[in-house]
Amino acid sequence: MASVEILDFMGDDLMVVNAARVSFEKESYELTLGDEKLINYLAKHNHVTPFFHPQVQFRIRMPLFVAREWYRHQIGFSRNEVSRRYVDSKPECWVPEKIRARDSNKKQGSKEEEVEEPQVCKSLIEKTIAQSIKSYEALLAMDVAPELARTILPQSMYTEFIETGSLAAYARLYKLRTTPDAQREIQWFANEIGKYLEEKFPISWKALTTTTSSSE
Ligand SMILES: Cc1cc2nc3c(=O)[nH]c(=O)nc-3n(C[C@H](O)[C@H](O)[C@H](O)COP(=O)(O)OP(=O)(O)OC[C@H]3O[C@@H](n4cnc5c(N)ncnc54)[C@H](O)[C@@H]3O)c2cc1C
Repeated sequence: MASVEILDFMGDDLMVVNAARVSFEKESYELTLGDEKLINYLAKHNHVTPFFHPQVQFRIRMPLFVAREWYRHQIGFSRNEVSRRYVDSKPECWVPEKIRARDSNKKQGSKEEEVEEPQVCKSLIEKTIAQSIKSYEALLAMDVAPELARTILPQSMYTEFIETGSLAAYARLYKLRTTPDAQREIQWFANEIGKYLEEKFPISWKALTTTTSSSE
């Protein structure tokens, strides 16, 4: 099953403020209205470095095809992932609940409506996955190395990784992957991350994700 679990985090809105205020040898001990204004100013004028200091760590389980998109976000992140060179447990695959049809607008990827025969398509997806897992297990039984046997597994297979990123990096990812043209499945993960970050860094998260910066 897909999951996003917060493992650890460092900092709060005050950390952002104090990273900025050190320039003037100033420090805040409690978040004031002035501090909130400062956070909004920093976000608006793209002074992003104070938002690099807070760090958050997640354990994330997502299908490979989503991870491939997720991993394109590199700056400000560190990741370690399960390796199917060493692990040969039974793979688990994601199956879409709704079989969305192709959109005539290529950039959109898919539309809300389902195809005409969703059950037939879903059954085809499930059968293909089951066959691929069966073949994988047959190859392992014939002593094929896991690093070779894995090459036949579907893109829908779940992978798991631990990811640490800065608040600024997550805000960039969130903004890019919650737009309507982002694939529906990656939007779900970006929104889950967003829920945690909104709770831990309410002022900064709002400023970073809703303010249009002066360079945009
Ligand atoms: C809706 C959508 C569709 C997409 N479609 C495609 C696609 O069809 N094909 C495809 O290949 N990718 C696609 N991408 C991926 C996209 O091109 C980016 O790789 C991805 O969004 C990560 O962007 P990022 O700014 O977070 O990158 P990061 O690599 O995390 O970089 C963060 C920022 O650091 C700076 N930076 C990073 N590297 C450099 C550099 N070398 N030089 C200067 N500045 C740098 C930039 O300001 C950059 O925005 C798509 C992304 C989205 C959101």
